[in-house]
Amino acid sequence: MVKIERKVTENSQLAIQSLAKEKIKSSGKYNTDEVVAALQEIFYNKCYICENKNATEWEVEHLIPHGGNIDLKFDWENLFWSCGHCNHIKGKKFTPILNCTELEVDEIIAFRKSGYFGKDEKLHFDKIIDYTDDTEIQMTCSLLRRVYYGETPQEQAGAKILRHKIRTELSEFKNYVRDYNEATGEDKKDLFFTIRNKLKSNSEFAAFKRWIVRDNPNCKDFINCWKN
Ligand SMILES: [Zn+2]
Repeated sequence: MVKIERKVTENSQLAIQSLAKEKIKSSGKYNTDEVVAALQEIFYNKCYICENKNATEWEVEHLIPHGGNIDLKFDWENLFWSCGHCNHIKGKKFTPILNCTELEVDEIIAFRKSGYFGKDEKLHFDKIIDYTDDTEIQMTCSLLRRVYYGETPQEQAGAKILRHKIRTELSEFKNYVRDYNEATGEDKKDLFFTIRNKLKSNSEFAAFKRWIVRDNPNCKDFINCWKN
């Protein structure tokens, strides 16, 4: 989970207009075509929770469950783009969580993968900032653990596919970093831009990639490069 800027675009304005129209109907819907198009654009077609781009099922998610509250149900700021796996897990259970359209979540929680496939491979979500009230942080960490590991057999099946994707993406990313450290001249420059793109908010599993960079003393060139 990384920060996603809720940009004002033509699509987002159309989405807000459609929500206003639906809100006054007796059985209006919040997942209009305009809302879906705007969320896909703003969230880069990526699930805001698990950071997967290739899910087979997508849903308009309420950050704060609306529970029948009309204002929350049709509030553009409360609508997020999520894959079916994460949406089903989060439901009404995991709330309140950190708002990734307002906060740099990967600066509050460290996303790490330790070990190797078949050898105690594990994903870790650790709070790195101390707040007096860290309910949202703890809840977000619990949600992430459940999303990447699952509890029921169905969730576990989805989580396994997700972890496989992360493993593949991160190993490819590490290869780029290795190549960068050995490269010189133009090759090094090209690799810098390739790696930087993989650290940006629109990239899959960017939170994990950013922590590979933060934890690796050979990656100083990349610290915060995604912010430029
Ligand atoms: Zn997801």
